[in-house]
Amino acid sequence: MATERTFSIIKPDATNRNLTGKINAMIEEAGLRIVGQRRIQMTDAQAKKFYEVHAERPFYGELVEFMTSAPVVVQVLEGENAVAKYREVMGATNPEDAAPGTIRKEVALSIGENSVHGSDSQENAKLEIGQFFTEADIVG
Ligand code: ATP
Ligand code: MG
Repeated sequence: MATERTFSIIKPDATNRNLTGKINAMIEEAGLRIVGQRRIQMTDAQAKKFYEVHAERPFYGELVEFMTSAPVVVQVLEGENAVAKYREVMGATNPEDAAPGTIRKEVALSIGENSVHGSDSQENAKLEIGQFFTEADIVG
């Protein structure tokens, strides 16, 4: 299995509750290395672009509003099978459906305020990392 990178966001509901360290501990305990990390206030334009694939969904406006409501932490995670591994660590989109021990089960509030984002494919990981990081900001 090859070493991969995936893109992560610690969302406003989590930064608001000072959960960055707890979530990072869960990421690191799963064997993923945080090789890039920055706390930012996402702009409306950045959030709209990031969630462009959901533009036609009824929750798009609410999602963009939420992602810009407080700072987020954008991250690049590296490890074996990082994309799938991080999806496992996050748990299901709706915390009610998430398995015990996953980030969303342990800390998320609702399907909207679900604490973390993780890329769903290697292709999207590359695109998403490129939206927020330059290679110089990633130190493996
Ligand atoms: P993410 O892309 O954030 O990692 P995901 O891949 O598990 O989450 P998606 O289907 O890509 O889920 O949805 C993107 C995000 O949109 C979700 O994480 C959630 O915050 C929000 N979302 C999805 N479905 C709903 C919904 N029914 N109501 C409100 N928000 C939703
Ligand atoms: Mg998604």
